[in-house]
Amino acid sequence: MGRDKSRLHPRVRELCAEFERRCREAGLNVLVTETFRTAAEQDALYAQGRTKPGSIITRCKGADYQSPHQWGVAFDFCRNVRGREYDDSDGFFRKCGEIGKSLGLFWGGDFRTFVDKPHLEWPEALPQNSTKALKSKYGTPERYMATWKEEKAVTYEEFLAHMTRYNAELATAEPPEWAREELAEAVAMGITDGTRPMQLIPRYQAAIMAKRAAKAAEQKKA
Ligand SMILES: [Zn+2]
Repeated sequence: MGRDKSRLHPRVRELCAEFERRCREAGLNVLVTETFRTAAEQDALYAQGRTKPGSIITRCKGADYQSPHQWGVAFDFCRNVRGREYDDSDGFFRKCGEIGKSLGLFWGGDFRTFVDKPHLEWPEALPQNSTKALKSKYGTPERYMATWKEEKAVTYEEFLAHMTRYNAELATAEPPEWAREELAEAVAMGITDGTRPMQLIPRYQAAIMAKRAAKAAEQKKA
């Protein structure tokens, strides 16, 4: 069991980060305790309160991939205070749950039969709070995870770096063969100096070139 957020579905990872941010903003000292579980880890939890001591904490068997945690589409949280992790005397879990719900997540406190206040899951992947749809479509969590695509937004700085590189490439690029003769004519007419012929031009340069062309046409008439 782990709290490694990189094992969450990329969208759930974003929602989890936003959940933490908004909780902190609201003065709720939250800690994400668990994200992804393997089948063996889920089975160990299932045994608790059944074949092993402790109280029952899950109704999901690992081998059936019944827990949304096995699919990377759920995470658990607690209060980030040692010794008071699950203290709910001030409604901490409902307050956090409401924040999760405002992000479109389903809160485990709203389960009718198995209330699970420290739990949030992504309903988009879990119709009727069930992993059945995932299981019938993908078979195993591994196959589901293979379909995940990172949707990483390009930052402005990254975009600038790409543009700079692209411009540098264009500065030394050659124009197509068929355009060379016409380009030479344009140079002879004084429209352009012919350097860096593949570089992009701003409007002012295009306007000046058009003006030069018009002037060349006038001079030809005269
Ligand atoms: Zn959970």
